[in-house]
Amino acid sequence: MPRFVSHKCYSAAKLMGLPKYIFVTGGVTSSLGKGIISASLAKLLQARGFRVTIQKFDPYLNIDPGTLNPYEHGECYVTDDGAETDLDLGHYERFLNVPTSQANNVTTGRIYYNVITKERQGDYLGKTVQVVPHITDEIKKNFFALGASGSYDIIITEIGGCVGDIESLPFIEALRQARWDVGPNNLLVIHLTLVPYLQAAGELKTKPTQHSVKQLLEAGVQPDILVCRSEKPLPADIRKKIALFCNVNVNSVIEAQDAETIYDVPIMMRKEKLDERFLTKLKLSTKSEVKIDQWKEFLGRHKNPTEEVKIALVGKYVELPDAYKSIVESFVHAGAENECKVHLNYISSDSITTKNITELLGDQDGILVAPGFGERGMQGKIQACKYARVNKIPFFGICLGMQCAVIEFARNVLKLKNAASKEMDTKSSHWVIDLMENQKKITVKGGTMRLGAYDCVLKKGTKIYQAYGKSKISERHRHRYEFNNKYIAKFESAGMIMSGTNPETGLVETIELKDHPWFVGTQYHPELKSTVLNPHKLFVKFVQAALAKKAEKI
Ligand code: GLN
Repeated sequence: MPRFVSHKCYSAAKLMGLPKYIFVTGGVTSSLGKGIISASLAKLLQARGFRVTIQKFDPYLNIDPGTLNPYEHGECYVTDDGAETDLDLGHYERFLNVPTSQANNVTTGRIYYNVITKERQGDYLGKTVQVVPHITDEIKKNFFALGASGSYDIIITEIGGCVGDIESLPFIEALRQARWDVGPNNLLVIHLTLVPYLQAAGELKTKPTQHSVKQLLEAGVQPDILVCRSEKPLPADIRKKIALFCNVNVNSVIEAQDAETIYDVPIMMRKEKLDERFLTKLKLSTKSEVKIDQWKEFLGRHKNPTEEVKIALVGKYVELPDAYKSIVESFVHAGAENECKVHLNYISSDSITTKNITELLGDQDGILVAPGFGERGMQGKIQACKYARVNKIPFFGICLGMQCAVIEFARNVLKLKNAASKEMDTKSSHWVIDLMENQKKITVKGGTMRLGAYDCVLKKGTKIYQAYGKSKISERHRHRYEFNNKYIAKFESAGMIMSGTNPETGLVETIELKDHPWFVGTQYHPELKSTVLNPHKLFVKFVQAALAKKAEKI
C-alpha cells in the first residue's frame, strides 16, 4: 500500500524553503516535444526571476543513455559532472543557460540499481522489496533530490515516454503519491497531448486527448493543465470540449501549434499564458515582469540574417540529425550572433571517395568533422580533413573529428603511412591517437570514458586563444583515446600546433594548423556548452572564418 506520509526527502526540501513542483507527462504519441515545452515554461519562469531547473526521468532500463546507439536515442549529452544524459538536458541548458548534472536525469535502470544495491546491503532486511513502495519511494527520493539542495524555487520534472506505457507506470504512481506528499498547492501536472487534424473530415479531433487523460485518471492523476500539440489553431469550441471532458478550466487548455523554430516556443507559451496558469494555480503572484528581451533579440537576429554560409557536417549518423543535436543548435546560436544563416549540409562520411570529394565539399565555406566511435566512416572523415587542409577551407574537428585531422596530418604531411588510432587499427606501428593510460585496464563499457569538464590551458597567440580571449578554459569530454604525446615535436615542427593542453595530465586538448586560415580541432565537445544567451566562441569564430572564405571566393 502506498504510504500517505510526507516523504523524507521532501521534508528536507521543505526545510530549505518549499520549492514548487511541476510534472510534465505526455500522451497519445511520443515526440510531441515535452522537452521543449518544459524548457519553454522554465524559461518564462526564469524570466520572472524564479530559480528553475528541469529534470528528466526516463523509463528505460539502461542506467544512462551512454551505451545507446545514437540512431536509437539521438545524441548523448554530457554534463559538467560527467553524467551521460538524455539529449533533452541539452535543451534545458540551451534555454536556461544554467548547467545541469547527473541529478537532472534518472532512468528506471538507475532506480532499480539503487534499490537492488540497497537490498544487497541489507537496508531492507526482513522486508519483501516491491515496486510499491520501494521503487516508488526511490523515484520520489529522486524527484525531490534537487529541491532539497535549496538552490531552486521551481523544479520541473519531465516524465519520458507516454502515459499508458508499461514502463511509465511506476513513475506515474510515484507522481500520484508525490502530490499527497507535497500538498496540492505545491505540485502541478501538465499533460502534453496531440489534437490531430483530419484532412478528410476537415476537423480537429479531441478523442485522443480525452483517452489519454482518461488513462492518467485511471492511474489516479488529474492533470491541471493540458498543452495540446496541433497543426492548426485550437478554436474556442474545441478548447471547451477538451475542458469539459478532461476536468480542467477552459483557460488551462493551452494550444501548442507547430513552430518555425523551437526558440519560438517560449514566446508562444507566453501568449497562451502557460506561465500565468501555473502561477495562478499554485497561488503565486502573476505580477512579476517577464524579462525576455534578450531572447527576443536573439530570435530577431536568427530570423533576419544578412548573410549566409554553407557548412558541411561530415559524420556517419547523418540520417538522424538528432545524433548531432548540440552541434546543430550551436550553429543556430553562432549564426544568430553573426546575423548569418548557416546552411548545414549533412554528408555521410561513408559516401566520401577520392573521386566525389570535390563534388561533395568543393563549394562549402566550412567543413566540420563530427564526433563518433568505431571504424565505419573513418576513411571518409580523414579524406574530408585532408580536403579542408589542402584547399584551405575553414575546418572544425570535434573529438573524433580532431583525431581524424591528426591521423591525416601524420599520414600525408609527416609521411607516417600507417598512422592510425588504436581504436580502429590495433596493428599500426604509429598510433598517433592512443588509448589513454588510465583506460588500459578498463573492461566495462558503461560510464567509463573520460567524461565531464576538464581544465585546459591555451597557448597565447593561437587562433583558439584568440577565440576564447583567455588562456584557462574548461570544457566537457567524452572519449577514451587521446593524442599520443610521443609525437608532439614531430607534429609541431611540421606546422600542427598543440594549442591547448590539460594542466594536470598534459593531455592534448586542442590542435590547429599554422598555415591555414582556420583549422581547429578539439578533443572536447564545445557544442555542449553553447546556449542561446552564450553562443560558443569557437562556433562563432568558425562561422566568421566561413564567411571570410565565402567573401574571398566572390
Ligand atoms: N572514439 C573516440 C574516442 O573514444 C572519439 C569519441 C568522440 O568523438 N566522442 O576517443
